[in-house]
Amino acid sequence: MVVPYKHEPFTDFTIDENRKALEDAIKKVEADLGKDYPLVINGERIMTDDKIEVVNPANRKEVIGYVSKANQELAEKAHKVADETFESWRKTTAQFRADVLFRAAAIVRRRKHEFTAHLVKEGGKPWKEADADTAEAIDFMEYYGRQMLRIDEGFDVNSRPIENNRFHYIPLGVGVVISPWNFLFAIMAGTTVAAMVSGNTVLLKPASSTPVIAYKMMEVLEEAGMPKGVVNFIPGSGKEVGDYLVDHPRTRFVSFTGSREVGSRIFERAAKIHDGQQWLKRTIIEMGGKDTIVVDNDSDLELAADAITYSAFGFSGQKCSACSRVVAHEDVYNDLLNRVVEKTKEQVSYADPTKHDTYMGPVIDQGAYDKIMSYIAVGKEEGKLMHGGKGDDSKGWFIEPTIFADLEPDARIMQEEIFGPVVGFTKVKSFDEAIEVANNTEYGLTGAVITNNREHIEQARRDFHVGNLYFNRGCTAAIVGYHPFGGFNMSGTDSKAGGPDYLLHHMQGKTTSEML
Ligand code: GLU
Repeated sequence: MVVPYKHEPFTDFTIDENRKALEDAIKKVEADLGKDYPLVINGERIMTDDKIEVVNPANRKEVIGYVSKANQELAEKAHKVADETFESWRKTTAQFRADVLFRAAAIVRRRKHEFTAHLVKEGGKPWKEADADTAEAIDFMEYYGRQMLRIDEGFDVNSRPIENNRFHYIPLGVGVVISPWNFLFAIMAGTTVAAMVSGNTVLLKPASSTPVIAYKMMEVLEEAGMPKGVVNFIPGSGKEVGDYLVDHPRTRFVSFTGSREVGSRIFERAAKIHDGQQWLKRTIIEMGGKDTIVVDNDSDLELAADAITYSAFGFSGQKCSACSRVVAHEDVYNDLLNRVVEKTKEQVSYADPTKHDTYMGPVIDQGAYDKIMSYIAVGKEEGKLMHGGKGDDSKGWFIEPTIFADLEPDARIMQEEIFGPVVGFTKVKSFDEAIEVANNTEYGLTGAVITNNREHIEQARRDFHVGNLYFNRGCTAAIVGYHPFGGFNMSGTDSKAGGPDYLLHHMQGKTTSEML
C-alpha cells in the first residue's frame, strides 16, 4: 500500500543548516560545470560532434555543459527503438511502472539540494524558485505514480447475466515530449513521466537552453529501474528534430509546453496525416498566458500588493502563470499602485541568483532579453513608467522589475505575452468592468481576484474565464495534486497537469464484452 500523496515541503533557507547545505551544493555543481553530455537512445550513450553550448544566464561566460545534438538520422533511430520498446512496455503492470517513479522521487529527494543548485545555475533561478522547481518534479513523480494505480483499478460499467463487460484504459504508443526551459526540471519531468507511467514510450526533446537537467533526470530514471528504450533523450533543434518527430507517421501523440508560436505550429503539423499513419495524433499543448489580478474596491490592499509583486516578479515573470496585468477599481487604484511600487523598490533585488537573498535573477537568454526590452520601449509609449525599465546584458541577461501605470486595456502591454518582469496597471469603474477587462485577451490561463465581497467571488467564479482562478492570493505557484494546472483559449488544451485526469490524455479507453 502506498502512503497518500502529500506535496513535497519547500526548504526554509532562513535556517542556517539549510542555507549551508545549498551553498555547499552550489560549490559542488560549480566544480562539475562544462562537461560533455551524450544523447541516450535505448540506454546507449551517443556523443555527437555537434553540441549545444548551455550557459548560465546570470553569467554567460560560464558554460554549464556541452550537450550532444541529435539529427534526423538519430531521431529516426530513437523513434524505432521507442516503437519496438512499446511492445514490451505496454504489457508491464501499472504497479511496476509506478514503482519506478516512487523510487525516482526518492532518489531526487535524497539529492534534493544538488538538483536545486543545478537549477540555480542552468535556469538562473533564485533559491526559492529553484527549490520549488525540484519539489514539483518530486511531486509529479509521486502524484502520477499514484494516479496510474488508481486508473488501473478500472472504471465501473454495467454487466448483464449473459455477459461480462469491462472498461479500462490502455496506452497510446510513442509520445514526443517537448519541454520548456522555465520549469526546466518540474515540467520536463512531469510531462515525461506522465507519458511513461501510462505505458507509453517517450522521445524527450528538452528545451535547448536547459537540456542538462533532462540528462540528469534520465540517469535518475535508469537508477530507479526504468528499462532501456522507454524514455530516449534526444535534444536538438526544433526545426530539424522537433518537426521531424511531430510529423513522423509512427508518432502517436505530442506533449508540448512552451510558447504559443511553437505550440500552434505543432498543433497544425500534428493534424496532417502522413503516408503509413494509422491514427489521428493526440496533442497535449500548454502555451502562454496574459494573466490578470483583479483588485476590488473592498479588499485587503496589503495582501493585493504582496500577491501582485510576487506573481509579477517571481522568477523574473518567466512563468506562463505570471501576473502581467493588474485591473484595479478606481477607488483603490492609486493606493494599490503606490504600495506595489514601494514593495518592489524595497524587496525585489535583482542580482546573481547564487546569493541566497536574491529575489530575482536574470532572464533566460539574449532572445528573451531583446524581446522584453522591446516591450519595455512599447510600454513607455503606451503608459507611464513607475519603476524599473532598464536592462543590463553585459554579464548575464538582467532586467529591472518594471511597472507601467495608466494603460488602456487594449494596449499591447496589456494584450501580448511578454514573459518577463513587466506588469501593467489599468483602472476600472466597477467590478463588472473589471471582469470584462480581465477576459479581453486571447489567453485564459490564470487569474486572481482580491476582494472581501462574497458575491464578487461568485461572479468571478462563474464569469472570469481562466483555467486556474485564485481568490485572495497571487496567480502563480500551483501545487501538484492541489491545483490542477492548465488554461483555456490560446493558453492551450487545458490538460490539467497535476490533476486527476491528466494521465488519461495519454491513454485510450477500451471496452471488452464476453458472452457468458
Ligand atoms: N505551474 C506554474 C505556476 O502555477 C506555472 C507553469 C509555467 O509557467 O509553465 O506558477
